[in-house]
Amino acid sequence: MVTARDFLGRDVLTVGEFRRDELLFLLDAADKFERVTGTLLAGRVVATLFFEPSTRTRLSFESAVGRLGGSCIGFAEAGISSMAKGETVADTVRVVQGYCDLLLLRHPKEGTARLAAEFADIPVVNCGDGAHQHPTQTFVDLYTLRRECGRIDGLKIVFAGDLRYGRAVHSLVHVLTQFKAHVTLVSPPFLRLPQEQLRALDEMGVEYREMTDLEAAVPEADVLYMTRVQQPQAGEAGDRDPPPAAARDGDRHGSRRAPPRRLLPAGALRRRRAEGAHRAAPRPRGEGPMMQPQLTTHDEESPLMPKPTQQVAKLKEGTVLDHLRAGAGLRCLRVLKLPPGTTVLVGINLSSKSHGKKDLIKIERYELSEAEAAKVALISPDATISIIRDYKVTGKHGLHPPIAFRGLLKCTNPACIVHTERIPGSFVVESREPLTVRCDYCERSIPADQFEFA
Ligand code: ZN
Repeated sequence: MVTARDFLGRDVLTVGEFRRDELLFLLDAADKFERVTGTLLAGRVVATLFFEPSTRTRLSFESAVGRLGGSCIGFAEAGISSMAKGETVADTVRVVQGYCDLLLLRHPKEGTARLAAEFADIPVVNCGDGAHQHPTQTFVDLYTLRRECGRIDGLKIVFAGDLRYGRAVHSLVHVLTQFKAHVTLVSPPFLRLPQEQLRALDEMGVEYREMTDLEAAVPEADVLYMTRVQQPQAGEAGDRDPPPAAARDGDRHGSRRAPPRRLLPAGALRRRRAEGAHRAAPRPRGEGPMMQPQLTTHDEESPLMPKPTQQVAKLKEGTVLDHLRAGAGLRCLRVLKLPPGTTVLVGINLSSKSHGKKDLIKIERYELSEAEAAKVALISPDATISIIRDYKVTGKHGLHPPIAFRGLLKCTNPACIVHTERIPGSFVVESREPLTVRCDYCERSIPADQFEFA
């Protein structure tokens, strides 16, 4: 049984943090507030930290706070805040929280709300962080669906337009996985809902279908949810063309300004149609460890090549990284950045009973730090590490990627807040096979072959 206490002191950062019963509780509360405004926020001060202008969102929050008896302080764009003087979001949050009870934050970079919540002792509400999330907008969409149609479960909802870059669409589709809605996705092929979203629908057992013909989709629908396809996308690109550079990953917030949305019960749409209104760095040379390629690449298929001996000189002191995936050895060396002058022996594409092929590295008089070993584990999750002292193996164990970690990798999303705030990336392992991690801030999934090490 959900009560108001369950929300006490809680951040609102992503829609995924709210369960179905919590969402329904919020909708009931909104319903009450729509009829009876009061003094719930009397004596409370709410700060609107809008690092980019968004008049509608800011005014809707400020109006809600005012109607509930509270007052607002804040700024409406970064240029008039201390950000213009080089202050970070973390600095601003630390200072402003001293003057208020709640932070409402909007920022063009993805993951900013999560970062602000880390530095704030008071709750943070995400009012839009780049192309990432705008959870309260999704709450309003749910509220509108329920108010107009009397329910959310079982609704037949057609999403049409730019489904690829529309933040609002992604969030609402995600939340609808908790309600038994029937989803129809109508878009040109290059603006389809992203694969990871489709996969999530499959995993949740949500009924959905994809179409390109809006006219065919609408007659059965209860609700049509439209996002505007930006003119350059629709005009310049044919169905098979990729979207323009500004809308591609890396500048995903290019689409941020796009969508004045239309959320209409289909009845209203049908009425409008009847009225004729329907519209549809490489390392510098000379630095780094000395490499002695002791065992070279060997192709077992070739009858001309001698069988490798795999006799590796004994190491007196140091570290042996073994059972590295074939191809991982040289990448490990590049990432480890061992001190200049370190002697390293490398074996590439060696035969291995358990792995077929493997790489192997011996590092003389050097023991890896925990962070270095974790980096090797991220490159080659099933490798082993042995510590050699006086020709004896004093410790040997398997290397496993940490479940959650900070600082080993860089987020590959250029729109992520970690780059502008200059803080170490923070990640969780999303899948072990194939190895994929997710940035804690912008929630971008990064597969192992795209890892960039810090
Ligand atoms: Zn990120």
